[in-house]
Parts: sequence; structure tokens; C-alpha cells
Amino acid sequence: MYPRVEVDLQKIRHNADQLVKRGHQQGIEIWGVTKVLSGRLPQVGKQLIESGATGLAEARLDNLQQLSAAGLSGRKVLLRLPTPSQAEQVVALADVSLNSQLVTLKALSEAAVQQGVQHSVLLMVDLGDLREGVWPEELPRLARQASLLPGLKPLGIGTNLTCFGGVIPSATNLGQLVDLARDLEASGIMRCEIISGGNSSSWHLLERGQMPAGINNLRLGDALLLGQDPVGRVPFVGLYADTFVLQAEVIEVLIKPSLPIGEIGRAAFGNVPHFEDRGLRRRAILALGRQDVEPAGLTPLQPGVSVIGASSDHLILDTSDFPREVCVGDVFSFSLNYVALLRASTSKDVQFLVR
Ligand SMILES: *Cc1c(COP(=O)(O)O)cnc(C)c1O
Repeated sequence: MYPRVEVDLQKIRHNADQLVKRGHQQGIEIWGVTKVLSGRLPQVGKQLIESGATGLAEARLDNLQQLSAAGLSGRKVLLRLPTPSQAEQVVALADVSLNSQLVTLKALSEAAVQQGVQHSVLLMVDLGDLREGVWPEELPRLARQASLLPGLKPLGIGTNLTCFGGVIPSATNLGQLVDLARDLEASGIMRCEIISGGNSSSWHLLERGQMPAGINNLRLGDALLLGQDPVGRVPFVGLYADTFVLQAEVIEVLIKPSLPIGEIGRAAFGNVPHFEDRGLRRRAILALGRQDVEPAGLTPLQPGVSVIGASSDHLILDTSDFPREVCVGDVFSFSLNYVALLRASTSKDVQFLVR
């Protein structure tokens, strides 16, 4: 059945083994982030835990539920800040949640007391990327308030970079995170068992020996699953980047001009397309579209093939330079970037096949 994504579990396991080992050498535990897979592949979570990841982190509660249903060990972590209305479910499903708002912490505290459990929280600080997290000056107040709430265990602090503002983790901004944690401890506000220095974009610091001492946790998705540095989009040495391969079938192959004929207005997605005249080209249409994938995130694995564009349900390839004949029913393969993988995992029409 196509379209499908073939998943190489062994390569993912290799990546996880490597990253967990290199992290441990520098005193850093790894939480495996599988949110890009939409809860579809608990097998991946299992490999990460067996590699030595100490937790599995998801952005959404239903994904976390899928991991719990699979009976995986390790801490279950909710990455996206919860809403107060989710508090009961969060406490029931997650061992740890990331937080920046007192109103939500209060709701979590109530839910934890009601359920007779302790819920751990990581307080998020914004070091300039401008997504979640309190401003550093606000942290002591939030930490003091959080530590007074019954049923909650403040585990430490964390930050998230490169997700919205594109801010690159550095010895300076992560050093600031460590300083903030030390200040909280020195002033007796809370103990920071965990200082979580971000996501895959922080890994390059560790590779270069520039990770500030004190950072003892990273939350890794991209690096584990796609073996790449999200900042420069370069593969990490010794890791596999070809862990997921997307395949789709040809539904039409015809020779057509490279320039559309007629007056050009807006295309299906509101853009006014521009084309270069390259004469007549052999074009193949695949049964795959923007509903299933981000076309810009696909890299054809066969030589002489390029992606020209896509609408909701059609992906158009130029196969003029492909060395063999192309027939209806043929299958083309692609590697995926993070966004393409995310879209594929959320498409009900894409099968995921574990090898
Ligand atoms: C998605 C996410 C991560 C993991 O990001 P990767 O780039 O996949 O490593 C870590 N922390 C938070 C808060 C996230 O939302």
C-alpha cells in the first residue's frame, strides 16, 4: 500500500545509542522526543528507552496516552505547556510537565492532590527565542510560588531555543540558564535536580565541548530520529539520516511543456507560480499531496528526479533526466525533513511500515 513511510528501527536505535552514550559521557541525560510521529510508533519510543533515554516526551496528551498504552518505561514528559482544563489528564498521564504559568501550576496542584500523587514540573525560562517560558527576572517569583503548591514537585528549570526566533544555543545563553538555577538554589527557593538545556539544536555545543557545566538534560527528537543538526541541517558524524523513506506511486507520465499555457493567476494554494522555460519535459504525477507531505521537505532518492510542485493530492516530478523509462504504477522514494515527516505522520493516508 502506498503512500508509505518505511522506518528503519535499527538505524534509529544506532542514533539513540550514540547520542545517549555521548550525552552520558558529559553528565547529560536524554529525553527522547517522538512528537513528530504523532504517537503512531511506540516501537520507536521503546528503542529510545532501551538505548538509555530516561524519559519520553510528547507535545500532546493523546500521543502520550499512546506511549503509556504501549507500557513503555521511563518518565513520561509533556512538552507543550498544558492548559488548566487539561490538569487532571496531565497529572494522570504525565510524570513531568513543562510550565510557565501560575494559573496552570495551581490547577495541576489541585489535580495532583485530588489524585493523591506528586506531579513533577519543569519551569521554563525564555532566553530570547520568544516561544514559551518566563523572562529570567520573573523566574524566582514563579519558582517560589510553585514550590509552595501541594502535590507539585519542582524538578528544575529548562529552556527552549531555535523553535520560534531561531536563536542558536550558545555557551552564553545556556550558561545563563545554569546561573539562574544556581541562584534559585543559593537563595533557598528550590533545588534544581534538572537543568534542561533545550532540544536538538543544543547538541552541537556538546560535540564541540562547549556545553556549560551544569546542563544535565536535553530533550532530543530531530537529532535522534533524523540524525541531523537542525541548525545547519547537516548530518551528525556517525549517525544515520536515512531513517525514514517515503514512497509513492506514479499515476501519470506524460511529456508536457515546462511553461503553463494561458494567463497565469493564483494557483490552488494562493501563490502566483513562476516557471522557467526548459522546453518539453517528461513529468510524472505521484498519488501524494500537500495533505500528506511538505513538498519542499522531500529529497528524491533516485537520480535525475526533481520535485516541481504539488497541490493537495498531486505531487509533480520532473523525470526527464531519470535514466530509465517511467511507467504508471512505478514507485519513487524520498528522504524527508522534519516538517515532511510531521505532515506524513498526521496524514491518515500514509502508512508507516517498520522494518
Ligand atoms: C519539540 C520539542 C523538543 C524537541 O525538539 P527537537 O528539535 O526535535 O529535538 C524539545 N523541547 C520542546 C519543549 C519541544 O517542543
